[in-house]
Amino acid sequence: PFEALVVGGGPAGSAASIYMARKGFRTGIAADRIGGQVLDTMGIENFIATVYTEGPKLSAQMEAHIGEYDIDVVKPVRASKLIPAAKPGGYHTVEFENGGTLKARSLVLSTGARWRSLGVPGEAEYQTKGVAYCPHCDGPLFKGKRVAVIGGGNSGVEAAIDLANIVGHVTLIEFDSQLRADQVLQDKLRSFKNVDIHVSAQTTEITGDGSKVNGLTYKNRESGEEHHVELEGVFVQIGLVPNTEWLKDSGIELSKHGEIVIDGRAATNIPGIFAAGDATTVPYKQIVIAMGEGSKAALSAFDYLIRTEPA
Ligand code: FAD
Repeated sequence: PFEALVVGGGPAGSAASIYMARKGFRTGIAADRIGGQVLDTMGIENFIATVYTEGPKLSAQMEAHIGEYDIDVVKPVRASKLIPAAKPGGYHTVEFENGGTLKARSLVLSTGARWRSLGVPGEAEYQTKGVAYCPHCDGPLFKGKRVAVIGGGNSGVEAAIDLANIVGHVTLIEFDSQLRADQVLQDKLRSFKNVDIHVSAQTTEITGDGSKVNGLTYKNRESGEEHHVELEGVFVQIGLVPNTEWLKDSGIELSKHGEIVIDGRAATNIPGIFAAGDATTVPYKQIVIAMGEGSKAALSAFDYLIRTEPA
């Protein structure tokens, strides 16, 4: 059994395992892969002190950094169930889809999240060729160009406001008959001269010239009419889904969006179980933030281990 087990191998989990191992505790990391969403990312320009890097390269560096320490890397595995210790100081059990189990006195849960995709023709084909999911990451790539934001909830409207300051023109597309974002955000968005808003609009296709995006087709759900908008980028903002389905019956508190509820020390509601990164309620889902949160969760787990008598 481990003193600390990290579940999930993205930036949050990688940081947590390294911080924990540096405390001299027996540490494991169980993951389907090391790198997480970073593996699916091309250019990264906001990883501070690194002007430019690419996802596969940064992931390989995370894996190499983990390899510098005495960390048991258990992969590829997917956690399927968590059974918390009966009392503080006892062993928590994590079950895996392959039938295996691992036990540890402290856990860091860092299974990340995934962007909800539209599932229309062109979306997968033009991913990273004009189809984007993260305005903080990719907004500056579209400086002066025309983009669409799909989704009129808080994240979509925030993205549109953010982009309206950077790009030439923004078309916001909402499926529902009205925007669902907070009124203050809607008012802010409507104050921009370079933003068009279409409601009751169903995106049916993202078009391209074979190498990059050149437009988007949507259907007006009331009139049934189809419209085509010419543009260079499409930001899909219809939700980020935390990978926490496996925690449903564990007793770990989840928010209404399925995020693991944590406090300022990355602690969950169960003693000895901590969580970090995109899977949690921490605001703003970014690599530097996930790494910081993973480090914080490991230090909290360390604090728990030195203060709690083994049960
Ligand atoms: P993740 O990276 O999601 O890692 C979690 C890992 O756990 C994954 O490998 C997942 O498959 C695995 N996992 C899930 N469920 C289980 C399970 N049951 N058992 C075991 N393992 C499991 N951020 C930036 O700062 N800059 C950027 O430029 C940037 N660009 C991005 C581009 C794209 C296309 C995407 C998708 C994201 C981008 N992000 C960017 C966001 C950034 O990648 C995330 O905020 C960050 O990776 C979150 O780290 P994490 O460790 O919390 O989770």
